Amino acid sequence: MDFSFTEKEEAFRNEVREFLAEHHDSEGVRADGADIESAMDKLPKLLAWNQALYEKGWVGFSWPREFGGSGGGIVEQMILKQECGDARAPILGLSYMGLAWVGPGIIQYGTDAQKKRFIPPILKAEEHWCTGYSEPGSGSDLASLQCRAERDGDDYVINGQKIWTSLAMWAQWMILLVRTDPTASKHLGISCLLVPMDSEGLEVRPIKAMNGETPFAEVFFDNVRVPVENRLGAEGQGWDVTKHALANERSSIAEVTALHHNLDDLKSMAGECRLNGKPAIEDAGIRQRLARMQSTIEAMRLNGLRFLTKQLRGEPIGAETSVNKLLRTEMDVETGRLACDMQGGHGVLTGKSPGAVQGGRWQKNSLSWPTTVIGGGTPNIQRNVIAERLLGLPHDS
Ligand SMILES: Cc1cc2nc3c(=O)[nH]c(=O)nc-3n(C[C@H](O)[C@H](O)[C@H](O)COP(=O)(O)OP(=O)(O)OC[C@H]3O[C@@H](n4cnc5c(N)ncnc54)[C@H](O)[C@@H]3O)c2cc1C
Repeated sequence: MDFSFTEKEEAFRNEVREFLAEHHDSEGVRADGADIESAMDKLPKLLAWNQALYEKGWVGFSWPREFGGSGGGIVEQMILKQECGDARAPILGLSYMGLAWVGPGIIQYGTDAQKKRFIPPILKAEEHWCTGYSEPGSGSDLASLQCRAERDGDDYVINGQKIWTSLAMWAQWMILLVRTDPTASKHLGISCLLVPMDSEGLEVRPIKAMNGETPFAEVFFDNVRVPVENRLGAEGQGWDVTKHALANERSSIAEVTALHHNLDDLKSMAGECRLNGKPAIEDAGIRQRLARMQSTIEAMRLNGLRFLTKQLRGEPIGAETSVNKLLRTEMDVETGRLACDMQGGHGVLTGKSPGAVQGGRWQKNSLSWPTTVIGGGTPNIQRNVIAERLLGLPHDS
């Protein structure tokens, strides 16, 4: 394998660095530790940053030019992500779901009219998306979903419920999975619809999480009408659309840059916090945990290069993204635990408590583990995917 970059790629890296130095407000817009409420406080700055990226043609970097992207190469896209990550500049910004999987899904499965209608507002962060897959009885076994859409003339009429819908309160659009044919086998009876969140009969009920944030909601559909032209892909093709989206979701969730930042912060903290009367870094157990994290991140980085190689060969990325998703979740849990352990007695103090380390940031982090552990598919499900699709082990049917 050749890990070196060409002269052209190095020149592009310099261009990105110069752009960041000129346009990125490193204090105002940071990619790390940004919870939803603080992201909303910083909305104008985030929008300005997105606009600067958009004008440069770097938002939908690898998307075809005809759809408003830059048609940029995969290696350059990785350089852009690396450099933005190192500067702690958000690269998917406010249009996270739109850019990570809805846009790529529309480019792959959408009609020309859908591409023209939906892609530009995603790139400009003018419209935000949420993802309506999970239901109270259908999470891991997503294909068992029950939310129904029945054809009535030129419309679908939707009835049912979704749950855990991230950012449903702020989104203007939802990518929704519905059952259009209850008589077909469970994977073939599903279709994908693009639904305006202000539709009549659609109700959003926010859910509060244990870290105090309100990141997701229940969404109820009571005879919600959506025109047939809002179907993404053919009727009954919803499962294929979703497989594409989930591979994109798992690869986005598994980005390693944020983990590097957390590790750097933990290493600094290990020098500052005192454990058993000594700096935490002098504790052999703490050093081993830091070293384990470092080697896992390196393994993830190299695995990420595998996806890159596949993409460069024009092959689709699929089940292998589950490996990094699984490791990422383990790392996230360990990050919160290690930070609190290093703080000794202060490790139980949250938020504004006197003596809370760094404003209780790490305690909040340790209460946020479901965000990456469960969202995008639980660890058990990732292990099933790895066992069956990568290792070829037999599976239950
Ligand atoms: C922060 C967060 C954000 C989310 N955002 C969204 C969103 O925007 N849109 C959306 O649609 N959903 C979203 N979800 C929902 C998420 O996708 C589901 O929670 C997840 O798929 C698990 O489904 P479930 O909660 O129904 O658990 P279940 O599927 O009921 O699983 C319960 C337990 O059983 C285990 N299990 C289930 N089946 C198997 C099996 N075959 N083999 C081994 N073990 C198994 C699971 O691993 C888990 O431990 C979000 C969840 C979280 C936590």
